[in-house]
Amino acid sequence: MVLKNTYLKGVYEGLEERNSNEKEFLQAVLEVLSSLEAVVEKNPQLENAGIFERLVEPERFIQFRVPWVDDTGHVRVNRGFRVEFNSAVGPFKGGLRFHPTVNASVIKFLGFEQIFKNSLTGLAMGGGKGGSDFDPKGKSDLEIMRFCQSFMNELYRHIGENTDVPAGDIGVGAREIGFLFGQYKKLTNTFTGVLTGKGLSYGGSLFRTQATGYGLCYYVESMLQVLKQTSLEGKNVVVSGSGNVAIYAAEKATQFGAKVIAMSDSNGYIYDKDGIKLDLIKEIKEEKRGRVKDYVDEVKTAKFNNKFKEIWNIPCDVALPCATQNELDLDAAKALIKNGVICVAEGANMPSTAEAADAFLEAKIPFGPGKAANAGGVACSGLEMSQNSMRYNWNFQEVDARIQGIMQDIFNVGYEASKMYGREGDLVLGSNVAGFLKVCDAMIYQGIV
Ligand code: NDP
Repeated sequence: MVLKNTYLKGVYEGLEERNSNEKEFLQAVLEVLSSLEAVVEKNPQLENAGIFERLVEPERFIQFRVPWVDDTGHVRVNRGFRVEFNSAVGPFKGGLRFHPTVNASVIKFLGFEQIFKNSLTGLAMGGGKGGSDFDPKGKSDLEIMRFCQSFMNELYRHIGENTDVPAGDIGVGAREIGFLFGQYKKLTNTFTGVLTGKGLSYGGSLFRTQATGYGLCYYVESMLQVLKQTSLEGKNVVVSGSGNVAIYAAEKATQFGAKVIAMSDSNGYIYDKDGIKLDLIKEIKEEKRGRVKDYVDEVKTAKFNNKFKEIWNIPCDVALPCATQNELDLDAAKALIKNGVICVAEGANMPSTAEAADAFLEAKIPFGPGKAANAGGVACSGLEMSQNSMRYNWNFQEVDARIQGIMQDIFNVGYEASKMYGREGDLVLGSNVAGFLKVCDAMIYQGIV
């Protein structure tokens, strides 16, 4: 990707110089800036307002020490992060990721993407993200609790229901959110909607667990209907990952009449030509916290391959990468295209490399970028915030219906923007433009802050 606009080129080169070791962050910024060149050409006043210099610089970046004691009595130390990237359209909002690969670059790329994703939902949420290089795998519940409490001992002073509202992400589910919330309540003596993804008994949304995966399939249905005049019914689907997003994407795709034939985790993938049995996957991953390869012990006709990236060599109609960033590279994209894929949509954040995304666009394969396709989760979190403010609970069907509407709107605004800028069907460009315009407008109204 090469920037032609001199203003944007200058902004990017300045960032590259100051953040040369933050490759994921630079990758995300370059992708967004290259979509917005036409917007800048049409609106030269954005340069005078310094919009892009401000947009790529977080309002606040917090890094902190997280000391905790393991079950053998040893002191362990991890790094904690929170980036409060942009609050032009609402309080900072974005998940917490606990994974050994977490560093400043990963948190900043996620926080930057979150600005546009949250804007696309139409709800009043700014962009933020956080996490730690702590690895929850293999830890006892007590170790997880001690870690979460220590993490919150620092984080609590930076967040609040009207300031910054974290949620879950990789490695942070209902268990971790519960421990984090308990410690926040203890430290501040307040019971507020400071975190989303909470348990149902203390203010959580009935639909949060399903929201991202189901939302992804609602978005895919719009893509298929509008761009390919078809639907998920009867399609073969490959879903990478087997966490929260992957499981509920697979569930909704199956409900739409598709057959999910492969899923993965970081140890490898499983292939079941008869369709993955989701009850078994849920039992293995959600109840036993096991590995996908355990599936083949129960289903003898299924196969396991220990190279998780090779999942993209399996012929399919629809590919849904739902594990992690840069898991689908150019070779994988070529294999999918060669095997006749008709739609790719990102459940994870930036799972496709820039080269892979370009290959899909060039081959005119409908490609749904994560900031649009996986926005169902944060949209549901936005609704959870509203419910907490009102001290009210909507039922499952009410939230589900709202998320369906939001996902259709996200597709429509992205599609319309792609037409307006002469690239009909380019949802990367369309979603970036639509998400950006609202944030930019709010920034201009609010002056130089
Ligand atoms: P989970 O922790 O529930 O699951 C993550 C899955 O991805 C697991 O199967 C995990 O395998 C796999 N995975 C994680 N890291 C790697 C890696 N480095 N290499 C290979 N596989 C990996 O996370 P979620 O399902 O919540 O999140 C998945 C993606 O979706 C992330 O990109 C996240 O940012 C994004 N997302 C999540 C939302 C949500 O609501 N949860 C909302 C929007 C986006 P293993 O168990 O082996 O690590």
